[in-house]
Amino acid sequence: MIDLRSDTVTKPTEEMRRALYEAEVGDDVYGEDPTVTKLEKLAANILGKEEALFVTSGTQGNQIAVLTHTQPGNEILLEAESHIFYYESGAVAAFAGVQTRTIIGEKGVMNPKSIEEFIRGEDQHFPETGLICLENTHNRAGGAVIPVQNMKEIYAVAKENEIPLHVDGARLFNAAASINTDVTEFTQYCDTVQICLSKGLGAPVGSIIAGSSEFINSARKWRKRLGGGLRQVGVLAAPGIIALTKMRNRLAEDHLNAQVLASGLTDIPKIKVVNDVDTNIVVIDVKELRVSSDEFVKKLKENDILGVSFGPTLVRFTTHYDVTEEDIIKTIETIRQQFK
Ligand SMILES: *Cc1c(COP(=O)(O)O)cnc(C)c1O
Repeated sequence: MIDLRSDTVTKPTEEMRRALYEAEVGDDVYGEDPTVTKLEKLAANILGKEEALFVTSGTQGNQIAVLTHTQPGNEILLEAESHIFYYESGAVAAFAGVQTRTIIGEKGVMNPKSIEEFIRGEDQHFPETGLICLENTHNRAGGAVIPVQNMKEIYAVAKENEIPLHVDGARLFNAAASINTDVTEFTQYCDTVQICLSKGLGAPVGSIIAGSSEFINSARKWRKRLGGGLRQVGVLAAPGIIALTKMRNRLAEDHLNAQVLASGLTDIPKIKVVNDVDTNIVVIDVKELRVSSDEFVKKLKENDILGVSFGPTLVRFTTHYDVTEEDIIKTIETIRQQFK
């Protein structure tokens, strides 16, 4: 099976499994797990923030950030197809009690002027704007990189209005690899950031949130409230350390495979690649084949290749550590054969 559904399907490497076995552990709720502490220090350092916190998932990390930054009744600004709005089961409403105000981006990029316009003024009728969220890379925009310059401009608006800025950076390291820069180029323009260890970086579980010490102190409490305070969790932090030290530098390979896939699929007459393929995601439109994305995905599955439906006629493929260039060539050939 060639599994291109997501980079979350990556299995821990042999080195990760060994590290997991050998990890020194303690009760992390008491702050006594040395491996977790090491991971958090390393992550804070890499992300250029004072402190970091190991959390169970990207969704939990984002939700803790929203809970920490806002008050019930606040309004948060975010992109219309952002993960926090689109894919987190309405959690910001259910837990933080905030309402969302969405901004339609261009390839995931929000115009700083729209943000400025949407920030609420002082009026008893209005909710207070409690948080601005940005997603980099932007998943539904096909792994699009939000440019550093755009983040800089949005951060300036946020600062001017004294509103915190959170970055959902589930795939922020892909953004950094794509433009061949250090991740701090991006993180210098946000207050807090969430990154996933369990996607392209290949760790089995976990995310990191990072920000000021003050932020992490309250975030830790929210994590506990949500049931995310874990005990001898060094066994999961150990693969996370390898994710951050060894796996970050190979993401460009996944991006190259995505390029190969996109150019191969572009050569197939009735298939359109609809995204720019900045990183490890390729989105195609199968409309001209007169099949739905579900039918397309089903037929592919019968041929041992997995993708995901991404809209009525859109299909997403994601490259990652567990797919080779050979798999990519085979995928292109299979699609060419099956969908003439
Ligand atoms: C995957 C993803 C998340 C959520 O991560 P989980 O670990 O699956 O909860 C959040 N934001 C973006 C942009 C993602 O792609």
